Amino acid sequence: MDGFDCDLFVIGGGSGGVRAARMAAQRGARVLLAECAALGGTCVNVGCIPKKLYSYAAQYGADFADAAGFGWDVAPAGLDWGRLKKNRAHEIARLNGVYEHLLRTAGVELLRGWATLADAHTVQVASAEGETRWRARHILLATGGTPSVPHFPGREHVLTSDQMFDLDPFPRRLVVVGGGYIACEFASIFQGLGSQVTQLHRGDQVLRGFDEDVRQFLAKEFRQQGIALRLRADVAAVERRADGLAVTLAGGEVIPADAVLYATGRVPNVSGLGLEAAGLALTPHGAIQVDAHQRTAVPSILAVGDITARIQLTPVALAEAMVVVDTLFGDGRRRMDYELVPTAVFTHPGIGTVGLTEQQARERHGAVRVFRSEFRALRHTLSGNPERTLMKLVVDAASDRVVGLHMVGAEAGEIVQGFAVAMKAGATKAVFDATIGIHPTAAEEFVTMREPVA
Ligand code: FAD
Ligand code: NDP
Repeated sequence: MDGFDCDLFVIGGGSGGVRAARMAAQRGARVLLAECAALGGTCVNVGCIPKKLYSYAAQYGADFADAAGFGWDVAPAGLDWGRLKKNRAHEIARLNGVYEHLLRTAGVELLRGWATLADAHTVQVASAEGETRWRARHILLATGGTPSVPHFPGREHVLTSDQMFDLDPFPRRLVVVGGGYIACEFASIFQGLGSQVTQLHRGDQVLRGFDEDVRQFLAKEFRQQGIALRLRADVAAVERRADGLAVTLAGGEVIPADAVLYATGRVPNVSGLGLEAAGLALTPHGAIQVDAHQRTAVPSILAVGDITARIQLTPVALAEAMVVVDTLFGDGRRRMDYELVPTAVFTHPGIGTVGLTEQQARERHGAVRVFRSEFRALRHTLSGNPERTLMKLVVDAASDRVVGLHMVGAEAGEIVQGFAVAMKAGATKAVFDATIGIHPTAAEEFVTMREPVA
């Protein structure tokens, strides 16, 4: 033996940790993984998966209304929130089991408990059965992130996304604070499920970092659906009163609510990890700094996913995990490429986007050509639903390459995933033009936009 209990000790059984552990074990490494909560991490338990399930649930509300124009008489629909929660919990428990099965069949030894670094090669795991210590040749930090709520009077009354999935009772009046992914998705989901939603955002527009047209378009759709979206709105205090919660804005206005969701960003899970004992320092943003091979400043310790606070998305954590496996047990050539990472916001209508915003493209490339199309989807000609669709292409004028592709509309995530492949392959606008559309779809618009608008 080499004096180590394992080749790789993974702390955190979420998206990044499970992928790294499985793949390393499949390459013959001796792998241990410690998880203090449910396997699958944020994505499976309180993130992507339950969120998407609730997003499907919310879509039914609009679909029942849309059905009338197609000749269907649907009895007034009512939501059984309890049944939805129960079915979601059942599916998540199934997925927890799938993750455990995947780890065990790959040969990963699973430890249940809270892991702490004792030094650069030692991990201590505390569980109900007591404490164990393990010597590891390499350690991977994959502890993810956690919601961050600012300090203000009444902070103890507000919820984070972690608590929204099992909320009881269903909030008739919901106030959502924030303008990012989670705030927009939950505002949209709960509005669709039947809540009266007020969304309060401190900035001039929701979804900072997204294309301006996309931001404005979504805000317009939200308002059209009845979400009371308030911009430049700062919360001064939240109080509990006899009839529920009262959210007081900086200007003195009071908004009543049954529940208040704070979706104001997430911070890396670094506390209680023993970083000092291992000699690890944090970035000014409280994250673990890693190099192109996911190595930290301590050679035996690597990190992936939300703890590194780069792009906080599951597929990014998975790809970073593959870099780790390649660095430690492969030829070490794989590096993470953060260019052209596609992303979707699962609102109604949804957003799908890849590449540069128009503004970023102008800054990076100078001259750009912009193609934009806004229309009512065929389906809504009969449904009577006023929802509209936006599609936009940003093209570098010098090379003709499509450098930004943005959509707001039904199935935007599904549509943009395919176009991301084309863009990764360097597709030019001429290639888009030469591609035959699939008719009648919304997606065909991306290959039929001929006249630049700017
Ligand atoms: P996590 O998945 O968070 O896993 C970390 C694990 O480490 C957890 O299981 C935790 O219990 C464990 N842990 C922490 N500390 C310790 C310790 N000391 N000892 C033992 N175990 C420990 N991304 C998308 O791509 N698409 C989406 O649609 C999407 N929707 C989201 C919706 C919400 C509401 C949220 C909150 C996030 C969403 N994300 C989405 C982001 C995505 O969930 C994360 O980027 C991803 O889960 C990060 O993976 P990770 O491995 O870094 O961490
Ligand atoms: P985001 O960083 O996306 O958004 C945070 C929002 O909160 C911003 O609008 C920000 O405003 C606002 N904010 C921050 N601090 C304060 C404050 N003190 N007071 C008031 N408002 C504040 O974080 P989320 O929590 O929404 O999501 C975290 C990450 O999880 C996302 O960035 C994304 O990577 C991932 N995620 C991905 C999803 C997907 O892929 N569909 C879905 C959900 C999450 P401002 O813009 O002014 O800074």
